[in-house]
Amino acid sequence: MMPAVKANAYGHGAIAVATTLQELGVTDFCVSAISEAIELRKAGITGQILILGYTSPRLFDQLVEQDLTQTIVDLPYAKELNKFGKKVKVHVGIDTGLHRLGVRSEEIEQIIEVWKLSHLQVTGVYSHLSVADDSDRNSVIVTRAQIEAFNEVVGYLKAQGLTGFKTHLQGSYGILNYPELKYDFVRPGIALYGVLSRKDDHTVAKIDLRPVLSMKARIECVKRLHQGEAAGYGLEYRAAGEQTIAAVSIGYADGVPRELSNRGHVLIQGKTVPIIGKICMDQLLVDISSVKKVMPGEEVVFIGNSDASSIQATEFAATANTISNEVLSRLGTRLERLVV
Ligand SMILES: *Cc1c(COP(=O)(O)O)cnc(C)c1O
Repeated sequence: MMPAVKANAYGHGAIAVATTLQELGVTDFCVSAISEAIELRKAGITGQILILGYTSPRLFDQLVEQDLTQTIVDLPYAKELNKFGKKVKVHVGIDTGLHRLGVRSEEIEQIIEVWKLSHLQVTGVYSHLSVADDSDRNSVIVTRAQIEAFNEVVGYLKAQGLTGFKTHLQGSYGILNYPELKYDFVRPGIALYGVLSRKDDHTVAKIDLRPVLSMKARIECVKRLHQGEAAGYGLEYRAAGEQTIAAVSIGYADGVPRELSNRGHVLIQGKTVPIIGKICMDQLLVDISSVKKVMPGEEVVFIGNSDASSIQATEFAATANTISNEVLSRLGTRLERLVV
């Protein structure tokens, strides 16, 4: 396993997640940016850390100093990194159709060139799938073609006598929908956190994913709202009758999408209550008329369990028209991460 702990481990807290995984025996990690890799090194992560994204030449010295592994995003980048003149570990990115980073798989001569750059030590070759999460016919055909293209590159490199590099291709949906594939590493992100991207996704491998994260805030203040009165910025919510409302200590700066204004819901004492009015930067309002005796300090659940009820990250995301990956990775730094 080479878990993806980028974006603060999908909002969970990269240091807490990576150190826990390291204690469990995981020695290889991937992140997106060098800043994330350095943060992990400072926190005592000692194994391989692969940077999946681009590192600016002004930070090349840090790659060496912190013993990081850099992705080769294309051949010119490989040449630039080689010019730095110090031994750097790299994984060569192969573009098999996502057309994001990596050398195009059919440009085999360009791929081979990387091995001729004397300061680069190639310890890995990898690609990334475009539609491994989709099970319709065309997506499966496209994915099979990507797998084939990757295998051809790896086969060609080995036929040239090149060895000493590891291979990897699958993120979460690659693992769950193409479980028969066998490369040296897998790069689980969202599934590592016990979550799929969408609630109704079906995967070939049936596995009991259990969410790692709950997201909670507290009631700050309870008050009456009289019929016809507005609540929140912009006069966008008006009381239809006498109501009890509460201010909750969390806002869009913490990762509650503003799109959930007048639309999302939360759990208090196991009951579902609506978010009312515009979500603010640091606060939001809920209508608690249906709940008895709500006190300041009481728990409000956005993701997770409250008595017998629960809200999944995928449900929270769907209400905001997005996937769990986005809402989790955008959870703000101000939210306290408690490891239970
Ligand atoms: C983010 C990322 C992953 C992890 O993706 P999930 O779908 O969350 O498992 C794996 N590989 C690469 C290259 C990525 O950018």
